[in-house]
Amino acid sequence: MAETQPQRAPRRQTRPKMPKLRARRTLLAALLLFVGCGRSCGNDEDPMASLKLRDWRPKTTATLRRTPIDKPAFEVIDFHTHLRNIKEPARLVAKMDRIGIKMIVDLDGGVTSLKANLARYDRAFPGRFASFAVIDFENNIDAADWSDRTARALDDAFRQGARGLKIHKSLGLYIRYKSGKLMPVDDPKLDAAWRICAKHRRPVVIHTADPAAFFEPFDKHNERWHELLEEPDWIYSGKKLYSREQLFAQRNRLLERHPDTTFVAAHLSDNAEDLPTLAKWLDRFPNLYVDLSARLNELGRQPYSARRFLLKYQDRLLFGTDFLAFDKDRYRVYFRVLETADEYIDTRLANGIQGIWRTHGFYLPKAVLKKIYRDNALKLLGDDQSPHPATSQPTQR
Ligand SMILES: [Zn+2]
Repeated sequence: MAETQPQRAPRRQTRPKMPKLRARRTLLAALLLFVGCGRSCGNDEDPMASLKLRDWRPKTTATLRRTPIDKPAFEVIDFHTHLRNIKEPARLVAKMDRIGIKMIVDLDGGVTSLKANLARYDRAFPGRFASFAVIDFENNIDAADWSDRTARALDDAFRQGARGLKIHKSLGLYIRYKSGKLMPVDDPKLDAAWRICAKHRRPVVIHTADPAAFFEPFDKHNERWHELLEEPDWIYSGKKLYSREQLFAQRNRLLERHPDTTFVAAHLSDNAEDLPTLAKWLDRFPNLYVDLSARLNELGRQPYSARRFLLKYQDRLLFGTDFLAFDKDRYRVYFRVLETADEYIDTRLANGIQGIWRTHGFYLPKAVLKKIYRDNALKLLGDDQSPHPATSQPTQR
């Protein structure tokens, strides 16, 4: 029917006076064509035929156990947060009590805002917040004295009370000299700053690179397509940047060169896609720790390997979320993944869409949870009496 219809049309035009019976047959044929084509011919007006991948929200039909976790097994130190949007710290503290959060590490301590943040959080609520300093990369990195100025500013920040240093992923990905050259992660200009961190025994939370998919071509094979569609700035493929491998190599040279400085590689060192390699790095560099923030999805799609990894490296892992807004249900996603054997957990509530697969729980033993939730963080923040994890040197305060 569909093939004969177009051939008949011109004939119809040359014969204006079509017999009535034939006209009715033609009308019927056209009607049948319209009805039959609806779903199979890609008609844009059919909502199912034209459903976009970005709008697809499948609901699982599997009967799944949902273990409610009201409070975590132990008080938690969240080692990776951003408090830049918090208006009332006292309300946040009340919320932390309800959720089961003992302390929050704020990586947004800032440069000029550090003093105010230390007063607003660390001193106003002792034991509940740890503000981290940042380095001022806007302050003419080309200048010959930038390195010394930066080290002095950091020394001052630690004396004021900053509990650590945060390095954003911009180091390696965005920060450039006037010549246009990117500042590499292991730039010698930063050596003095790493030494100040070692001197004060302050950990460095360092974010290097990004998920593997962000460096892959943005095409139909990209596993983080949904997310990159919303965040096109994170598509690094085709741009004049260091490769992901080069960034990791730079970061590793840094770890090797500064064995007395403790580094916490954010987001499972942004390499949870490749746990065997991450394990090798942890074996090789005793001064390397990783936080779990915003990477439940990567761990939870390889639940057997991930659980073995979490058990083996239980002394080197820190609980973290990367939250900017704090509520119980978002934290509960983390608690459920770490504590229960629930399967096929939707983690979007915690950190948004990060791939469209689901996550399986790790049912970690209590002793391991205690380390990841709290004890490892206390060790790095210098709030316990055990020896420094990265060096046997006596404490320098
Ligand atoms: Zn972050």
